[in-house]
Amino acid sequence: MDNSNVHILIVEDELRIARFLQIEMEHEGFRVTTEENGAKAFELIKSEDYDLILLDLMLPGMDGMTICQRVREFSQVPIIMLTARDDVEDKVNGLDIGADDYMTKPFAIQELFARVRNVLRKSQGSSQMNGDSYRVGDLVLYPHTYEVEVAGEPVQLTRREYDLLEFLMRNKRTVLTRDQILEQVWGYDYTGDTNVVDVYIRYLRAKLDDRFQKKYIYTVRGVGYVIRD
Ligand code: CA
Repeated sequence: MDNSNVHILIVEDELRIARFLQIEMEHEGFRVTTEENGAKAFELIKSEDYDLILLDLMLPGMDGMTICQRVREFSQVPIIMLTARDDVEDKVNGLDIGADDYMTKPFAIQELFARVRNVLRKSQGSSQMNGDSYRVGDLVLYPHTYEVEVAGEPVQLTRREYDLLEFLMRNKRTVLTRDQILEQVWGYDYTGDTNVVDVYIRYLRAKLDDRFQKKYIYTVRGVGYVIRD
């Protein structure tokens, strides 16, 4: 199994444990980032697109529960909580506020790997084309009927807006340059203003991000745009 495109954030202030997890995870081929401060970790999660987060509970800066709760306001990234031994109440709370799983320290690394594979399988299954639709969080696009909805509520798009959204969603998590978007959505022979991409991104944001108070479409400064949850 190729894990090199799976980026894991380990948030753990016990450096011995963080280092151990990093070595083991990298040995499995994962890309790994570690952060010991909770507040800094939250900033990282807001700006980077991780595939999985291993989250300790007691952290300087911001505790794991708060991080989990706040992350769930904008992202469904899988989170496995690392709890202290016998902290049953914390486990229950963790799952209540949106963690996908938890591990009680100390744990066997093989058990952690099993849980990591499990949550990745679930989240990767939902990120690809799901039956006859593309999904980014609760934004769903049905290519066969040209329908788009957010949390079950229909969204009316013009044909061009739809084409742009479909191209972004087919390439979820991939940053697309303005040139790529122009070629794919407007065609190779388009000779008009390249600002048209930015204009249509604005239209989409008004109908999706702004209307539903969410963030789907991200600007990557100097490069282009990416859609992700
Ligand atoms: Ca800790």
